Amino acid sequence: MRVAVLSDIHANLAALDAVIASFGSVDAVWHLGDIVGYGPEPDGVVERLAGIGAVGVRGNHDAAAVGGDEIEWFNPDARAAMEWTRRRIADPTRAWLTALPTRHTDGQFGLVHGSPREPLWEYIVSVPVARANLAALTTEFGLYGHTHLPMVYAERDGGVEQIEPADGSSFTLAGGRSLINPGSVGQPRDGIVTASYLVLDTDAGQCTWRRTPYDIEAVQAAMRADGLPVRLVDRLAYGL
Ligand code: ZN
Repeated sequence: MRVAVLSDIHANLAALDAVIASFGSVDAVWHLGDIVGYGPEPDGVVERLAGIGAVGVRGNHDAAAVGGDEIEWFNPDARAAMEWTRRRIADPTRAWLTALPTRHTDGQFGLVHGSPREPLWEYIVSVPVARANLAALTTEFGLYGHTHLPMVYAERDGGVEQIEPADGSSFTLAGGRSLINPGSVGQPRDGIVTASYLVLDTDAGQCTWRRTPYDIEAVQAAMRADGLPVRLVDRLAYGL
């Protein structure tokens, strides 16, 4: 089975559509939350994901969008964008986001937004945090997002190895458990502006990271027209 794994789309429909065109035919699409927030097209992104039958989990932005008190922990820009998102989204979008679970399991793969032990909020950004979460994994492999950074933390010879996968590089699912991040479709933060995702081949036991260009300026123009915070507009051009 070939699965496209997408995370942190953040209401960036141009990036999502470029990614969908780039992965072509797959057997399933899994998403790791933060569907909305920051970007200009929350309804369009949810409609597209629902249309292609994507399955996945909620992120902290999705929880806030449907009224959760997660918004209290947002920085001022994220909060302003979230207040705009709450006003903007249509009822079917709200219903679809509300129905998302915080965890989803498919065979050997566990899906969360943040981390296995704190699915909404924890950032896996270091080997010690990864080690604790590998211990908390109830599946062989954990797929996570939230940091917007393509990454693998893999159990190797009793230790935990950190791998930063480049565009086109692959990781083989063998030798121990691992935590795997596809990077962000809609707001990359690794200094590379193109949309990041991965394709998982469950038969070959391999995942491959990919980057896809999209029309960043068009998304920025839409964000400006909607009055979204200028720092959120600017960061798309820096990938930070
Ligand atoms: Zn996010």
